[in-house]
Amino acid sequence: MAFEGLTERLQGALSKLRRKGKVTEADVNQAMREIRLALLEADVNFKVVKDFIKVVKEKAIGTEVLESLSPAQQIVKIVDEELTKMMGETAVPLNKSPKIPTIIMMVGLQGAGKTTTAGKLATYLIKNEKARPLMIAADIYRPAAIDQLKTVGEQVGAPVFEMGTDVNPVEIVRQGLAQAALQKNDYVLIDTAGRLQIDEALMQELADINDLARPNETLLTVDAMTGQAAVDVAEGFNSRLDITGVVLTKLDGDTRGGAALSIRAVTGKPIKFTGQGEKLNQLDVFYPDRMSSRILGMGDMLSLIEKAQEDYDEQKAVDMAEKIKENSFDFNDFLDQMDQLQNMGPLEDIMKMIPGMANNPQLKNIKMDPKDMTHMKAIVQSMTPQERENPDLLNPSRRRRLAAGAGRPIVEVNRMIKQFNQSKKMMNQMSKGNFNGMEGLMGN
Ligand code: GDP
Repeated sequence: MAFEGLTERLQGALSKLRRKGKVTEADVNQAMREIRLALLEADVNFKVVKDFIKVVKEKAIGTEVLESLSPAQQIVKIVDEELTKMMGETAVPLNKSPKIPTIIMMVGLQGAGKTTTAGKLATYLIKNEKARPLMIAADIYRPAAIDQLKTVGEQVGAPVFEMGTDVNPVEIVRQGLAQAALQKNDYVLIDTAGRLQIDEALMQELADINDLARPNETLLTVDAMTGQAAVDVAEGFNSRLDITGVVLTKLDGDTRGGAALSIRAVTGKPIKFTGQGEKLNQLDVFYPDRMSSRILGMGDMLSLIEKAQEDYDEQKAVDMAEKIKENSFDFNDFLDQMDQLQNMGPLEDIMKMIPGMANNPQLKNIKMDPKDMTHMKAIVQSMTPQERENPDLLNPSRRRRLAAGAGRPIVEVNRMIKQFNQSKKMMNQMSKGNFNGMEGLMGN
């Protein structure tokens, strides 16, 4: 999972400071050494690390901090602020053209996720702006690329302009733009060719398309899993094309974080979006402050709430809260919640957005196999409507029937019912403002 090692190391260094009542200059130096190593191991650019440590140290060693009542907390705050700055401070929106269409040119190496990201971006624009994008297939070297874009286009409901693989890409873009003008599309997304590495012929072709289309936004897609290499790629493209923003893909994978932390500082170009999975809705606006908070294991409640809101029906939420309060939360609601959760993405990722949970050792013990969720759903689906509404009916013989119906062992049925009852109790307590007992639940 992204940033796991980095979060652990940074938290380790900072919690040592927290344990000390009084923090000395030597303590700060020690913590900075550890943070420096953690960042380097996360594959953050050497120079970026050096500058970061220098600034944090200067700020932390000031008497105002060391002699304050809570020096460790102040230092965490400084680290958080500087990490945020390193990644660009605030979210940078897409550049828009004053008159339609806004032209977005997608560039990047082969396999970085360019075509997928074009589809995600179309999805994002349709969903958030009710946009009518046209996608232009200008990658003629990989025949599958055109089909891939067409498939994505069909999925998201965006037309794709293509002329096969025998026409020059610049000509394809020229005719595609003419079609967009005719159809009054508000966005044009140009999917260009990628190579395995930067080469002159590719750069020339992209420069030619760039000269013709004069895009408002030239978005470079880079693979976060490649760490420092992603930063080098960004520099390479930027030196020829003057990119306007970066999309960092595969942040859901096992990335150490180096690319996310260095790209802005090295290239001066903002990360505008991150790709967090292969599905077309797994594109997120990049917020440096929220990312810093996640890296430091302080959670990201804002993104969590937004994610929940995206899928959540407000009336349903009100009804659910009412049921929890009245203690009438039943298995139908449970099923509903599981569906909602599954829509939000991998559970581990969601849990990590809760402050304090990122490195909670108890979280590590919870196995979040998506299969478990499917099994739980199968058990609930084997219940009769009466059983779902009144879980007290579930006596041993009924439980055996559920186990047979769902094809799961009886212990699993018992465990699930126990968990259901515990969560119900916990939610009811929380709705009354009593947050005790939450930890007990996490341990189970
Ligand atoms: P292109 O050659 O740059 O157009 O790359 P593609 O769009 O074909 O993507 C290459 C592979 O990466 C595909 O298997 C995608 O499903 C996958 N991919 C793209 N973005 C993401 C992402 O954010 N997360 C994950 N896990 N996979 C991604």
